Amino acid sequence: MSSEAEAAHVLIFPMPVQGHLNSMLNLSQLFCLAGFHVTFIISDFSHRRLLQHTSVAATFARYPGFQFRTLPDGLPDDHPRAGQRAMEFLSSVTNVTVPLFKKMMLQENFFAAAGRRPVTCFVADGLLSFAADFTEEIGLPLIYFRTATTSYFWALFCFPRLLQAQEFPFAENSMDELVESIPGMEGFLRRRDLPSFYRVDVNDPMLEKVVAVTRLIVRAQAAIFNTCDDLEGPIVAEIQKHVPRIFSIGPIHEQVKSRLTEKKEEASIITASLWAEDRSCIDWLDAQPPKSVIYVSFGSITLVTREQVLEFWHGLLNSSQRFLWVMRPDSIIGDEGNDQLVLAELMERSKEKGLLVEWAPQEKVLNHPAVGGFLTHSGWNSTLESIATGVPMICWPYFADQTTNSRFVSEVWKVGLDIKDTCDRLIIEKAVRDLMEVRKDEFLEMAQNMAKLVKKSVSKGGSSYSNMDDLVQYIKSLVI
Ligand code: UDP
Repeated sequence: MSSEAEAAHVLIFPMPVQGHLNSMLNLSQLFCLAGFHVTFIISDFSHRRLLQHTSVAATFARYPGFQFRTLPDGLPDDHPRAGQRAMEFLSSVTNVTVPLFKKMMLQENFFAAAGRRPVTCFVADGLLSFAADFTEEIGLPLIYFRTATTSYFWALFCFPRLLQAQEFPFAENSMDELVESIPGMEGFLRRRDLPSFYRVDVNDPMLEKVVAVTRLIVRAQAAIFNTCDDLEGPIVAEIQKHVPRIFSIGPIHEQVKSRLTEKKEEASIITASLWAEDRSCIDWLDAQPPKSVIYVSFGSITLVTREQVLEFWHGLLNSSQRFLWVMRPDSIIGDEGNDQLVLAELMERSKEKGLLVEWAPQEKVLNHPAVGGFLTHSGWNSTLESIATGVPMICWPYFADQTTNSRFVSEVWKVGLDIKDTCDRLIIEKAVRDLMEVRKDEFLEMAQNMAKLVKKSVSKGGSSYSNMDDLVQYIKSLVI
């Protein structure tokens, strides 16, 4: 290893939301393990919550080259930061955080300090559009990290093709037609599986924004994807025709575990929860038979209506399966705290079968022998965590990449069922029975095979493992 002052210094800037934070913190740990210095930009809000609810501070205390720098995320403390309103981060970060960040970076001489050279490379969240101009102005190498699925990225990147082929915009009654103009996804991707941002008319400002930031990738020197060849190899190959230097290093949380095990350090992934984890659910799981529980969680952003909660509750109960259900206190639309009470009452009535918690230690839950299925909103972190633990899924996507991820789960990897665009107790009951009983062996076999493949990819000799080595070498080569 090079001496301290010679080490590469990577600046990491995620969007301030749970899923992005998780994968960016894991990436930071990989860089720390490679001997790099890391400066991590985090919102005051997330930082406060991380200190309150996690051991992230202790994890990174092991790496003296790591530092957090905090900035406001531009939203008031009582902003919901959930549902469609989570997209308000795009403008609040641009208008408030970014100008402060630029000022801080210049004032602090690119975060140089004793024993730490100024940053040598900027790994920016793929949603941060300012990064392309900014790094060009100051002459800093830029690597975009897209934390969601590569297929989602590619479906947005192909927007001009969809337009040209007149596959966009589409009518609501044509949602089941196949999309033919996205190379690598012909034959299985329907209009309803496109990123949810496509469910609009032309000139929609949000679609314009997400497409524009996606296409900025060609201005970066390289790109990182949290995926692996076994999951999205053909899609990565398509993107490589436009962005030659791609590092697919996922599943990134498993890559961290693999590297820590190699160094004989405790191999637990960073739990970067912004909510307090209720560990009592592990005791409850301990008392359940093997593979008998379906874990239900819709992640950190999804909002549900009271009617949807009731459909899920009836569907789960009628399926006769045991269930562990995560319901964030802020996740029922229009609720003033009353619906949470209603749900708690419902759960009291079904306590023989189910347990309700506000936030779970998800990685531990998915690894628990009692868990046999996952009813998920198909967020990319949750999907990868489920795949890596060999747990089959029922997908009920909410927005963004989730509509695409769920199609890959059901039709490409065949590790679960997709019930998107429905919310009906009969459909839910049938899907739960199919996953947990009727087609249990078939799904478990597929899921466990996939788990083996992705774990192999992050082990020595695997594709994601060697891509990570290449990424480390590449970042070293940027140090002048
Ligand atoms: N998560 C958790 N406990 C929960 C629910 C979710 O730790 O009760 C974590 C989960 O393990 C995942 C992240 O929160 O790493 C959610 O990210 P994802 O990309 O799946 O969805 P998002 O929240 O961004 O919609």
